[in-house]
Amino acid sequence: MHTFRFAAALMLLGSMLLVGGCRQNADPNAEAAAAVVKLTSFDEPARALLAQMTLDEKVGQMTQADHEFIKDSSDVQKYFLGSVLSGGNSDPKEGNTLQAWNDMYARYQRQALQTRLRIPLLYGVDAVHGHNNVIGAVVFPHNIALGATRNADLVQKIGEITAREVRATGTQWAFAPCIAVPQDERWGRTYEGFSEDPALVSEMGAAAVRGLQGADLGAPTSVLACAKHYAGDGGTAFGTGTIGAKGLDQGDTQVDEATLRKIHLSPYQPAIDAGVGSIMPSYSSWNGQKVSGHKRLLTDVLKTEMGFEGFLISDYRAVEQLDPDFKTAIEKAINAGMDMAMVPDHYPEFITLLKELAQEGRVPMARIDDAVLRILRVKFAMGLMDEDARLFATAADQEAFGSEEHRAVAREAVRQSLVLLKNENGVLPLSKQAARIHVAGKAADDIGIQCGGWTISWQGAAGPVTEGGTTILSALRAAVGAPGAITYSADGSGAKGADVGVVVVAEPPYAEMQGDRETLELAPEETAVVKNMKAAGIPVVVVLLSGRPLVLGETLEQADALVAAWLPGTEGAGVADVLFGDYKPSGKLSYSWPRAMAQIPINVGDADYDPLFKVGYGLTY
Ligand code: BGC
Ligand code: BGC
Repeated sequence: MHTFRFAAALMLLGSMLLVGGCRQNADPNAEAAAAVVKLTSFDEPARALLAQMTLDEKVGQMTQADHEFIKDSSDVQKYFLGSVLSGGNSDPKEGNTLQAWNDMYARYQRQALQTRLRIPLLYGVDAVHGHNNVIGAVVFPHNIALGATRNADLVQKIGEITAREVRATGTQWAFAPCIAVPQDERWGRTYEGFSEDPALVSEMGAAAVRGLQGADLGAPTSVLACAKHYAGDGGTAFGTGTIGAKGLDQGDTQVDEATLRKIHLSPYQPAIDAGVGSIMPSYSSWNGQKVSGHKRLLTDVLKTEMGFEGFLISDYRAVEQLDPDFKTAIEKAINAGMDMAMVPDHYPEFITLLKELAQEGRVPMARIDDAVLRILRVKFAMGLMDEDARLFATAADQEAFGSEEHRAVAREAVRQSLVLLKNENGVLPLSKQAARIHVAGKAADDIGIQCGGWTISWQGAAGPVTEGGTTILSALRAAVGAPGAITYSADGSGAKGADVGVVVVAEPPYAEMQGDRETLELAPEETAVVKNMKAAGIPVVVVLLSGRPLVLGETLEQADALVAAWLPGTEGAGVADVLFGDYKPSGKLSYSWPRAMAQIPINVGDADYDPLFKVGYGLTY
């Protein structure tokens, strides 16, 4: 097994030399693409292992259970599970600490190492903006903000750091990047997409894959990436979903094939070319047919035509949705090309039924073998089969977790992601010498709101949800130094006499299913704070924390300056850096900003395109 990794390393070296011999002078993108080791180069050991496997062992490899529902970790051994995940609310039962995550992971991995063939587990997590389920991790801005940076190198760097933090818990698979191309901001997952423009999503998505998987997927600092949700998750028509209140989530993408390919499929090719090892099919449908059971899209297009050599992991309970009869649902999914099923709780039934399907010939053995080969080639490529020691986090890995060095990159990402939408009479940048700056809004001092959904818990939550990082208020205070120069009230009272006011208004945290909205306006409690500040007769800077553009209405008129700060994550200091002009605003909108609800959906390229602010808009000082 060692020999094969060595051979692959030689190939990698060879391809790097081919690119031009000299690393520093090569174009980084071309170099990265050329350096990607083909996953099929691990087929020899993968096939040799496959040849030794029983049907139980094969079906086990194709199964992923959620820690939340595993009553006894020995199920890993009993069912030969190929993977375990922690979903959005699936923390270690001993508490949400770095140590507890390591212990939990190790408990499962040790079970896998006790099976006959000792095939290690892949442990998956939704590390979608940093290792966001773990208290103390650095939380990066959500993808909508990263799209505004237009900085693919930064996105790659964020992927590298996320990989290091994921590895610090022993785990090695991130269900990221989300390369959705959201077309309707009412969708509660809009912030998970880099842009409404497929070209920008393509560039950022590939950069994220390169960062997460590293130059060598087999390095102990790399994690397996997962491009999701293939395909058309961001194109669902309003009112077609069966889940969530407003019917966009898990809905139906009603477009012709040319449009599907141009908008929603196109970011997958660069992700595949960057070597992405796993892809998650979407819950959503394409013209009425669920993508998770769509043989043409999964097998003919993605695997055959686009050349995807990794494996497909279903979305959470997505297989169950394909048919009221679970056995038929499994048959549809696997025959369509699904390789591994995320069956959080129903894994014992899945295993029994898939075995029956194989024995009855309803799922061909060749399909099972192909699925397992794909999973095993990724495990070999990741170096998981090399030595057990590499499966567990080292002290150095844990040391790097939530470190100052990592936080500095997140702070830089925040700075670059802010989009200045309005700035009248030069109210920004603020002066650190101001006698008094009055800050208002409950979101000004709330790290949970700042981070949004997919943070510590599935939907996210307001309040001090994590450790480390800074709220915007504490960052502003730290920047001025002089005590008393910053005053604060949640409701905007007490502003009279201040030189300037800063109001942080926000959407409350939300994630999939629960974040769909019919209207995109700030809550009256939020707009009231702006009014209170305005009533004090001082210039007012509005900082908006949101997962999407909102219809601003009179808030935009009342604000002397307005900054879209998205969901910046734990490093609120990046917001202070820009407000004080230590760094000039450079973010450019990656989504169109609507004038009114009646304009939504609105996207660049529309025939009658006339948004309030266009894609690419962003002022500076
Ligand atoms: C989401 C995925 C996520 C998975 C695991 C699903 O509900 O759609 O994005 O990776 O859950 O938490
Ligand atoms: C889990 C998430 C998952 C969601 C989908 C939640 O309970 O924590 O990981 O994405 O369910 O149903």
